[in-house]
Amino acid sequence: MPLRLFNTMSSQIEEFRPLRDSEVRMYACGPTVYDYGHIGNFRTFVAVDLLRRFLRQSGYSIHHVMNITDVDDKIIRNSARDGVTVQQYTAKYEKAFLEDAAMIGIEQPTLVRATEHIPKMADFVAKLVEKGIAYRTDDGSYYFRIAKFPSYGKLSKRDFSSMLDGARVDVDEYDKDSARDFALWKAPKTGEASWSTAIGSGRPGWHLECSVMSMQELGESFDLHAGGEDLIFPHHENEIAQSESLTGKPFAHFWFHARFLLVEGEKMSKSLGNFFTLRDLVLKGHKPSSLRYLLTSVPYRNQLNFTFDGLKQGAVSVERLRNFRLRLKSGNFAEGSTAEIQTLAADTVTKMRSALEDDLNTAQAQAAIFEMVRQANTAFDNGTLKKDDVPPLLTALEKFDEVFAVLEDDDLPKMQRVMDWAIAEGREKDISEELRDAVRSAGLSDSTIEPKIEEMKAARTARDFKRSDAIRAELADAGILVEITKDGIRWRRK
Ligand code: AMP
Ligand code: ZN
Repeated sequence: MPLRLFNTMSSQIEEFRPLRDSEVRMYACGPTVYDYGHIGNFRTFVAVDLLRRFLRQSGYSIHHVMNITDVDDKIIRNSARDGVTVQQYTAKYEKAFLEDAAMIGIEQPTLVRATEHIPKMADFVAKLVEKGIAYRTDDGSYYFRIAKFPSYGKLSKRDFSSMLDGARVDVDEYDKDSARDFALWKAPKTGEASWSTAIGSGRPGWHLECSVMSMQELGESFDLHAGGEDLIFPHHENEIAQSESLTGKPFAHFWFHARFLLVEGEKMSKSLGNFFTLRDLVLKGHKPSSLRYLLTSVPYRNQLNFTFDGLKQGAVSVERLRNFRLRLKSGNFAEGSTAEIQTLAADTVTKMRSALEDDLNTAQAQAAIFEMVRQANTAFDNGTLKKDDVPPLLTALEKFDEVFAVLEDDDLPKMQRVMDWAIAEGREKDISEELRDAVRSAGLSDSTIEPKIEEMKAARTARDFKRSDAIRAELADAGILVEITKDGIRWRRK
């Protein structure tokens, strides 16, 4: 079965086939680097990452481009306020964004920066002027005349037939109901950054950036364009208008939009105190993998309501999967195989695939892997899981992880880096006890812990429970939880 995806343009689930046989060319609107990325941003970026990973697993090579919006109204305002250049201002947040994206398991797309494409953007405006689609105003700004693009509104399904020809708007984000000619290029204002180009001085509008850079990297028509649902109008509508009126060709064939994330049932906002960056969560002691898991647990078109209970549940799920893999890798198994387990592993791979092919139904794919873990654990406990059953089970886990990317146990070094960053930024007071505990436990390497576990085992065999308890307490102090089970002694970091 081919992948079926919802296309915002047709408002339907369609079969996804790239324009070129085996290559997918996709563009995702990236962050505006004026602050640290929040969990809403990462909801969308993780959804796009998951799509990319699944397309690759499906056999496509991927050309995935993402822009870094390093010039816009907010950036210009903030850099002027701080008395630094736009580049100085954005460098810090771009670096932070890339670190955060890596921390949450996002594979890095090809990055393009607005400020590195200014002459191309000016050329684009000049061509639109030549075609009579863009016009210059007295102050030296340029606007797109939407009356010249009759299908304006086709993505957002808005009817602009009664719009006022010539009414203008010069901000990047504007009222959803306004049908206005939008700014392609903004004339310089005193004290604000501007570039000198063939069409005069000024700076590009946000919509223009994405049209110019996506077509430069991917061609005039490409497969898929992605972003959060707030970008449908005006941003993506305007990208389509600019691009298609210039080339006369369809711009992106698929429009992929992730539904907005809510926090505890409400829109995230600084004033409500429910606004979290990824770093805020790590400072509270949560693992990046817990958030990645949570963000993927609700299919991208459903509303995800972020809660701390959900985040804890995410941690438990990841832990279960990691423990299961550890069990498979370190357990002792009788020779042979069990037909039911072989079938279970193969069926799980098929179920995960069909779930993801169904408009990326991540919840169902996760349900399939957990059902496998449950049944395989039962078989392990009653001795019916045999040596030759291990490889197919591990393969199913690997297939899962190629897309979900939570199995690698690398949270602690990442958390350590966030702690170092907080100290360097003078934010020590924001470091929770939970994070300190976790990082302390990371200080003990596996090779230090294992001999202590062996010593505990020996002490218990010799019925020296005092010694065994002392080692257990020492490890607990260092954030290592030791569990004594009927299969032996297991440990994990808190
Ligand atoms: P920005 O940095 O504001 O340009 O946003 C970067 C990306 O995050 C865009 O694709 C937005 O649509 C997306 N985004 C912003 N807030 C949320 C949210 N609460 N839920 C999901 N996606 C969001
Ligand atoms: Zn964009």
